[in-house]
Amino acid sequence: MNFQNTSVSVPKKKNRALCPNNCRFCISRMSHNDGNKYPTLWDGSNGNAEWKVEMRDRLEFTCKSSDTLLFTGTGEPTYNLEYVSEVIKIAKNELSNPFVNIEIQTCGVDLDDDRLSEMKNMGIKTIALSIASFDNEENGELCRTPKDKTVDIEDLCNRIVNKFRFNLRLTFNLNKTSEKFFDNDANGNPNAKPFYEKCSKLGAAQVTFRRLTATENTSKPAKWVNENNISLEHFKSFEKYIVANGTKLEALPFGLVKYAVDGMSSVLDDDCCHLAYKDTTAVKSGIIRENVKLYTRWYETGSLIF
Ligand code: SF4
Repeated sequence: MNFQNTSVSVPKKKNRALCPNNCRFCISRMSHNDGNKYPTLWDGSNGNAEWKVEMRDRLEFTCKSSDTLLFTGTGEPTYNLEYVSEVIKIAKNELSNPFVNIEIQTCGVDLDDDRLSEMKNMGIKTIALSIASFDNEENGELCRTPKDKTVDIEDLCNRIVNKFRFNLRLTFNLNKTSEKFFDNDANGNPNAKPFYEKCSKLGAAQVTFRRLTATENTSKPAKWVNENNISLEHFKSFEKYIVANGTKLEALPFGLVKYAVDGMSSVLDDDCCHLAYKDTTAVKSGIIRENVKLYTRWYETGSLIF
């Protein structure tokens, strides 16, 4: 089995919120999300022998064919760095083929220098910062971040890139409000160039532009996504811009193609959660859920490998 990455879903820490945000488009809060299907095996202590054995077995299986270990989840992974740290210890010391890149996804809330320094010392190489607008206030509003925790995007990116020297991946959750950041080409069609300029200014090494996904039609976030997604015309303009201005680098195992665009690496992905079937034996993510079992799909218990 060939995995594009190994994703570890970080469970909630006892006595801490799962996530500080309540994003209008949160896929974890759509109605498929039944945490009972994946009860955490983690008891909060590194002396948890059963957890260690199970985690090591899964990582050993996926590490043979994936370069990246990605910390993600149904909440904010940096809110449980103890868990992240214990997984990295296993990944670094106990596997036959250690991962080349260790990456963590974050919404950026509460990422002060102490926390960034802690992540640097663990061996994390890439921070994937997820935003929904380049404007701090608008980003806070779309993500419903508590007012006193509004992320200063420019300051945070500066610390990530220049002070702590992580690779910065910007993951942009595109929505209707994003359309104002485009300009028009000579034919009056949307042009994605300003997006790349802004990402470059923030110091991004990699960019991911994500069209929002609704996995059903009834929950509040799903309805919001259906009403507020970026237009297809605007989304397609990324493809046009990449093909016209980028250099094809290589195909990723799952079939997506990586380009270099304006000095950043860029992948076109219109199915970030891998909901659609693709006729390939490669798997986008080997997903180790909170119960420390390995799946190939986020919301399908039937995708269990072991
Ligand atoms: S930051 Fe992520 S997990 Fe938290 S509410 Fe937003 S989309 Fe959901």
